[in-house]
Amino acid sequence: SDRMGDLYRYQLLTSRKRAARIKKVLEIATSINSNLSLDKVLHEIVHAVSDAVGFRIVLLRVLDDQAQAFEARAFAGLNREAIRKLEEHSVPRAEFESWLKEEFRLSRSYFISHDKKFWGEVDEDGYTPDLGVRKEGEWHQEDVLFVPLHTKDGAVIGYLSVDDPVDRTLPSREVVEMLEILGTHAVVAIQNASLYERLNNSMRQLEEATERAEELNDLKASFVSTVSHELRTPLTAIRAYVEALLESGGSPNMEMQRQFLHVIDEQSMKLHRLIDSVLDLSQLESGRFRMSREPINLTAVAGEAVEMLRAMADAKRIVLRVEASSPELVVEADHTLLRRVLYNLGTNAIKFTNDGGTVTFRIIGEERVVRVQVEDSGIGIPKEEIEKIFDKFYQIDGSLSREYPGVGLGLTITKSIVEWHGGEILAESEPGSGSRFT
Ligand code: ADP
Repeated sequence: SDRMGDLYRYQLLTSRKRAARIKKVLEIATSINSNLSLDKVLHEIVHAVSDAVGFRIVLLRVLDDQAQAFEARAFAGLNREAIRKLEEHSVPRAEFESWLKEEFRLSRSYFISHDKKFWGEVDEDGYTPDLGVRKEGEWHQEDVLFVPLHTKDGAVIGYLSVDDPVDRTLPSREVVEMLEILGTHAVVAIQNASLYERLNNSMRQLEEATERAEELNDLKASFVSTVSHELRTPLTAIRAYVEALLESGGSPNMEMQRQFLHVIDEQSMKLHRLIDSVLDLSQLESGRFRMSREPINLTAVAGEAVEMLRAMADAKRIVLRVEASSPELVVEADHTLLRRVLYNLGTNAIKFTNDGGTVTFRIIGEERVVRVQVEDSGIGIPKEEIEKIFDKFYQIDGSLSREYPGVGLGLTITKSIVEWHGGEILAESEPGSGSRFT
């Protein structure tokens, strides 16, 4: 009767313990499933395994699809040095699968006893904890228990590996089954988290695309309205002078007629330039143009630009110079577009420099880049305007600019060409003493 009593008490105690453990596992499972951040979930899982099932050391690896290897992602009971070692070595999928021999199987997990010489073949983590002396039949420091994390369709997306059981015993079926229950929850949580991550990514991409589409729309709308505004100004002038001429039809004032015609001529030229520039720019911006790439000697192109600018410079007695760090500085570029860049910058330099000044084209070869500078001794650009001059139709001080011809698109086009070639453009200036475009 005494022995029966002892046995009964022992059974009761074990049942209670078991019930408490299962309760804990259930609690943990609920908490795991309500969390969407993957790292947090994995962290909770390993601690659940440690607390509820009773292993001091727990490691969770998750399959990296691209690398086809299991990366160490969460740990319990390990010091920093051990974690570092585990993180350094991922386990190739094929290698892991080769460890899972049928003879080691226990439920859906694998227990590999130290006497199977498992560590002789592979060194999973390069880390073996010192568990102290273990008696026959107790958990040995080189025993291994793997719990693969299977998805519904049988794919392994990770695994738990545990060590150093609190009760020092070899794993019972019940312990393995509890580990597997937690493993199943881990799978769902990992899949949820990665689904959530993917969803978030697509959402972000969608938002970005919408934003860009809106920006483009705004840009188009503002471009159209600015262009029509710019076109209207010279057109209005032309119409006014034509009307004046028509009204004064009978009058023989030749001088006035000549003056009016001169204005009309000037304004229609401006209209012409404006339309040309807008067309050029829209072509550049749409990418619907053919850019050829050929080796081009920059010094030679600078010479061509100088020839095109000669008459304009002579009219203001401006000296044009070309300085090159070497006569042979060759880049892969579109000849016509590159000449256009130098011509545009040269035109501005002459336009905004007083009579008798100097404009220098400088070509400097560096290791992997060539720097081209167009420098003038002109009126300069105020600091606060430097950023804006590359904007469409921007001209510093409209009233002052009126004495300089131009439509405010030259630098926009220049910048666009430079960037199409993979280059950069920047302006520096000292108001009153000159500007330098590089
Ligand atoms: P624009 O047809 O008016 O020359 P750009 O786009 O080429 O148009 O230049 C925009 C404005 O930048 C010019 O109107 C002028 O105010 C200023 N700018 C450009 N280059 C120079 C320069 N070398 N010196 C001073 N101001 C300049």
